[in-house]
Amino acid sequence: MLGWTDDRKLADVLPDKEAKALTKALGYVTCHDLLEHTPRAWSRHGSGVLAEDALEGDMITCVGEVIAVREFHTRDGKTVTRLTINDGRTVFTASFFNSAYVTRLLRQGSKAMFSGKLKFYRGEPQLQHPDFLILPGPGEKAAGSLKAFTLYGDPDEQLRDLDFVPIYPATAKMASWRIMAAIRHILRTLDPVPEPLGEVPAGHVSFDEAIRGVHFPGPEGPEPHLERLKYNEALTLGLVMALRRLETLRRTAPALPPVEDGHRTRLLSGLPFELTDGQRTVIAELEQDLSQGEPMSRLLQGEVGSGKTVVSLVAMLQAVDAGRQCALLAPTEVLVAQHARTLTGLYTGVKIVALTGSMPVAAKRQALLDIVSGEADIVVGTHALIQDTVEFFDLGLVVVDEQHRFGVEQRARLRAKGRDGKTPHLLVMTATPIPRTIAMTVFGDLEVSTLRELPDGRRPIESVVVPEYKPAWVRRAITRIGEEVEAGRQAYVVCPRIDGEGGVLEVFDILGRGPFRNFVVGYLHGRMSGEEKDSVMSRFAAGEIHILVATTVIEVGVDVPNATVMLIREAENFGVSQLHQLRGRVGRGGHASLCIFHTLAEENSEADRRIRDVAATSDGFQLAELDLIHRQEGDVLGTSQSGTTRTVRLLNLLEDYAIIERATSDAAVLVGRHPLLAQRLVLEIDRTDREFLEKS
Ligand code: ADP
Ligand code: MG
Repeated sequence: MLGWTDDRKLADVLPDKEAKALTKALGYVTCHDLLEHTPRAWSRHGSGVLAEDALEGDMITCVGEVIAVREFHTRDGKTVTRLTINDGRTVFTASFFNSAYVTRLLRQGSKAMFSGKLKFYRGEPQLQHPDFLILPGPGEKAAGSLKAFTLYGDPDEQLRDLDFVPIYPATAKMASWRIMAAIRHILRTLDPVPEPLGEVPAGHVSFDEAIRGVHFPGPEGPEPHLERLKYNEALTLGLVMALRRLETLRRTAPALPPVEDGHRTRLLSGLPFELTDGQRTVIAELEQDLSQGEPMSRLLQGEVGSGKTVVSLVAMLQAVDAGRQCALLAPTEVLVAQHARTLTGLYTGVKIVALTGSMPVAAKRQALLDIVSGEADIVVGTHALIQDTVEFFDLGLVVVDEQHRFGVEQRARLRAKGRDGKTPHLLVMTATPIPRTIAMTVFGDLEVSTLRELPDGRRPIESVVVPEYKPAWVRRAITRIGEEVEAGRQAYVVCPRIDGEGGVLEVFDILGRGPFRNFVVGYLHGRMSGEEKDSVMSRFAAGEIHILVATTVIEVGVDVPNATVMLIREAENFGVSQLHQLRGRVGRGGHASLCIFHTLAEENSEADRRIRDVAATSDGFQLAELDLIHRQEGDVLGTSQSGTTRTVRLLNLLEDYAIIERATSDAAVLVGRHPLLAQRLVLEIDRTDREFLEKS
C-alpha cells in the first residue's frame, strides 16, 4: 500500500497453527498481506440487527440466547434442529439439518453468536445453518464453528464492540471467521499507521482509520474507509504518471517546425481524398507539438478505419523536412509490410525502409546501414527496431501503431535512440478506445487526441450472428461470401486456430475444394515465414487472392478496401475488442460491408451474449466500456496480465471517476511541490505492480 507496509511475519504475531494455515490457504506471509485481504461484505452486528432494515439475503450476525430447541424429521428422513433465539430485540429461528454437533452444543439457555444469511419464512426471520460460537460462561470452554476466536482471548470481549462483522473471501479450509479473528488480532497489535503524505487529505478519514475501519467499521459503515483506500490507489497511479511526465519534461527534443515547401506540403496537396475535420485537428495538434523543444508524448485514439496512418505520415514528413528520421513501430510483420506499402502509396518522395526479424540477412544488413547512415527517412519495423543493433543517424519522431501491443518499456527503449542526448517525439496510436478514467490513470503520462469520425462515404458495417445450430443460416453465409466475390469484392474467413478442426488449414482445404472452388483462396497464419506472409498479403491486396483464410494475424491494421465481407468462425473464442478489431478489416472502401459472426456457443450463454453485443453496435467507445465491464482492466489494456494487481485492488477504473479525478490532480500537485517525496512513495510500490504499469 502506498507509503506503508507491515512486514511482521504472520508467524510472529499469530499462533503458529493459524499462521501456517493462512499461508497454505491464501498464500500470505506477512501481516500486510493479510490486512490487504479486504472483506467482500459486512454484516450488521449486535442486538437488534434483525430490525426493520434487514432484508432477505442480508448477512446477519448477532448475539442472543437460545430460548427453545425443537427437533423434528422431514419426510425424506432428515433431522432438523430448530432453535428459537432472542437477541434482546427480535426473536428469530435458526435451523440446522442433520447436525448432531449442534444438538449436542446448543441447548436451551446457551448464549451464542450466530452469523448467516437472513430469510423470511412466513414473515418470520430465519437463519439457515448459521455459523455460531457459543460464548462460554466463566470457567467454560467456547465451542462451535467460530472457535477461532478463543485463540486470541475472550471471544465475547473481541466481538462485543463491533458494529459490523466483516465477511471475507474464504476457502473451504479457511473460513471467514478464522480470517476475521486473525485480522482482529493483527490490528490490535498494530502501531498507529502514519499518514503517507504527512496530512490527511481533506474530506477523507485518516489512513490509520481506513486500514482498521475497512475490516471493522464503526457505525458509519465501511464506505468512508473504502473510499480512502481507493483514493490511495488512485493516488499511486497518479504519482507514477505524474513522475513519468516530469521525467519526459526534463528532457529536450529536437524542435521540428514545419517548413514552407517540403514533403509535408507536397503530401497534403496531393492527397487523393479530403481529410476529415478530425484529421485536420489532430494534424494541427501534432504540428504544434513537434515544433517545440519539449518531447511530445501523445496518444492518438481513433476508431478502426478513421485514418490514423495518413495523420502519422503527415507528422513524420514534418520531421523529415526538418532533417530527422522517423521510426514507425508495428506489432506484426504483416502490418509492417502493409504500412511500408501504404506509406509509399501515399507519398513517394522519401526513402522508406522496412526492418523485421525474419528478413534475409543481406537485406537486413542493408536496412541497418540505411538507418545508421541517415539514408532512410522513415523506418517501419517490428520489435526488431528496438534491438540494440539498430542505430539511427538522427531519430526525431517515434510512432507506435496499435499501442496496446507494446509496453512503456519498449516505447522507452526506442525513444532512447535519439542523438546528442535529445529525446525523439512520441506518437502512439490505438484503435482500442480508452475510457476517460483509464486515459487519466494508466495512460496519464500521455496527451490524448481522438478521431471520432470515419471518412465520408464509409458505409456502416452490417453485422450478423450465425449460430451453428441454424445450419441454413451457415449455408446462406457461405453463399453471401460467394456473391460478394462474384461481384468483384474480396473476403476474409477468420479461424481461431491453425491446426485441427475448424483451423485455418482445414477450413482452407474444405472451402477451397467445395463452395469456393472457382475462386482463388489463400491462407495466412503466424507460423509462415515473413516472406510467405508478405507475399500472400500483397497478392490479397492486389486482388489476386479472392478469399483469405487466416488467424488473427490480420487483426490489427490490415487495410484492403476491396474486402467487403468477413466471416469469423467460432467467434466465441474471441473477446469484445478483438472481434471489433477484426470486423474493422472490412468496411474500408466505399462499398457496403458485412461481418458474419459464426458461433458454436449455446443460445443465451455468456459467449453468445457477448457476440450479440458486438454485433449490435459498432461504436468502439461503447464496446470498450462493455469490455471493461466483462473483463479485468489488464486484459483491456492488451497486456496478458490478469489485471489482479495490488495497486488497483479496490479501485474500479471505470466507476470511481470522482476519486480518480481528485487523486490525479492531487498527485500532480504533489509531484510539483515535493518530487522527492513522490519518488520515495512510488519506489515502495510492490514490484509486481510496477510491472503491470510498465506493460500498460
Ligand atoms: P486506421 O485508423 O484504422 O489505422 P487507416 O489509416 O488504415 O485506418 O485508414 C483506413 C483507410 O482509409 C485507408 O485506406 C486510408 O487511405 C483511408 N483514408 C484515410 N483518411 C481518409 C479520408 N479522409 N477520406 C477517405 N479515405 C481515407
Ligand atoms: Mg491502423
